[in-house]
Amino acid sequence: MSKRSLDDINEKIKKGEANIFTAQELKEAIKNEEDIKFDDVDVVTTGTCGIMSGTAAIFHIGVTEPGVFQKAKSVYLNGVPAFPGPCPNELLGSIDVIAYGTEHSVRDHEYGGGFLFKDILSGKDIDVEVESIDGQKFETSVNIEDIPRAQIIGVRMAFRNYTAFVNPKNDIVNSIFNGIPMEGGLDQLSFSGCGDLNPLQNDVSGNIIKEGTKILFNGGPGVILGSGTRSSDAKPNLMLTADMLQMSSEYIGGFKTGAGPEIYDSVAIPIPILNEEIFNDVKILNSDIPLVVADIHGRHLPLTETSYDKVWEGYDERPTFNSSKFNKEDNAEVQKSCPTNAINDNGTIDLDKCFGCGLCVYLTKNDTYTMNLGSVDVEIENKNHNIPITCRQSDIQRGKKISSKLKQLIIDKEFDL
Ligand code: SF4
Repeated sequence: MSKRSLDDINEKIKKGEANIFTAQELKEAIKNEEDIKFDDVDVVTTGTCGIMSGTAAIFHIGVTEPGVFQKAKSVYLNGVPAFPGPCPNELLGSIDVIAYGTEHSVRDHEYGGGFLFKDILSGKDIDVEVESIDGQKFETSVNIEDIPRAQIIGVRMAFRNYTAFVNPKNDIVNSIFNGIPMEGGLDQLSFSGCGDLNPLQNDVSGNIIKEGTKILFNGGPGVILGSGTRSSDAKPNLMLTADMLQMSSEYIGGFKTGAGPEIYDSVAIPIPILNEEIFNDVKILNSDIPLVVADIHGRHLPLTETSYDKVWEGYDERPTFNSSKFNKEDNAEVQKSCPTNAINDNGTIDLDKCFGCGLCVYLTKNDTYTMNLGSVDVEIENKNHNIPITCRQSDIQRGKKISSKLKQLIIDKEFDL
């Protein structure tokens, strides 16, 4: 069996001789029937981006001069409730705070922790409201420059495979698994998962991705702490952490759903090809990866199954805006429903904010926005249905972008394996 050591690979990287593929480059080569052998590949960089609800940030921020209050009781950041502590910081005038990416603002039901984290990383000023244990109230404003330390921890991230959801009944379901409340009648399908680009999907034997593995988390260097909460053999996921101040706002943000704002993150993990088993694992293709289609009511009630090639391959990653069809009034609801607030008042799309979810295409009936999202043939209760994909909750473009960034960092010798 062919083998190479991590030292061999690091030596090749140092000399600029390592063969590094992104997962997307490797899959394309395999699909094009190129004869890629173990000797041709030293490292594969994998990546994923999607809604990852288990995200929390820990900050330290200044509020007043020392001695003004003893200890904080409640904290709001741009109206998003956060949790003071665990350290009481008694009489220091500064506080430790834990904020959840899934927490919703008390001022604006469409704003939450995911949007807050993006705003912090974008350098925007953040309103801070603090109440102390003796009832004093303080208001201030902080900027990323004022935050000496911030760490993000993700407790269940980068699920190896996820689920597609449909509503086979005749009601409307408010759920985090669709960008808007999902109407019944089997005419909408939402799904998550970056298929054959996902890190864990490329290491199904568990040879590489484990506690201590170095990763890129929202663009900054991070590490795997271990398996995530709710990780199982069927649906493994990871617990991750990284310095938030080294992350980039382009890889993290808020995503509005039918049950309020959520958070998306991006993760890239390098897979050094140490032996033939690892090489065989990274050759997996979307057509080999099942995607369970479940009832959005019960969430874990599988109705049928498709595969990731049926939802990703041959489809557009971003919508096109057709200005001749645009009508400001008609478009107001679509603009408001965009999960990442990517639609400008004149109808154009801010492509830095767009997630490629497809909801604008579903919601505009006159082709103001067009994008080929595809549809899925599924058999439910002995009947065939062709259900259009109406909401993607993973962003394949950001998944590809972060895996390309990781490849470049390795080439530039800025990321050690
Ligand atoms: S695809 Fe449309 S609805 Fe989705 S994020 Fe982009 S602009 Fe918004």
